[in-house]
Amino acid sequence: MNKYKAILEEERKDFGINDDFKIIMKKMKAASISFKTRIIRINKELDCDQEFINYLIYHELAHFKLGTELHSKEFLKLLNSKLGEEKVKILEKRYSERC
Ligand SMILES: [Zn+2]
Repeated sequence: MNKYKAILEEERKDFGINDDFKIIMKKMKAASISFKTRIIRINKELDCDQEFINYLIYHELAHFKLGTELHSKEFLKLLNSKLGEEKVKILEKRYSERC
């Protein structure tokens, strides 16, 4: 059960609502880039701490640096070289969860 569903269940009971609800997580990316226009689009609904914001920008710049949108071995190597493998693992997980 994801964190939203757990909260939904709890609050639903508090409200005395008996209906079942479904939560659909939309796959809006945290950020996207355009190589052509050199634009980095950041999801405006993100509400992240400074560490994550720093990572987000670094992550997107790494795409520009390598000229690929892929999260290739080379890409991860570049991230790891700056932040260390463990940190990158944690931050990438946060990235996939949009914070
Ligand atoms: Zn990426």
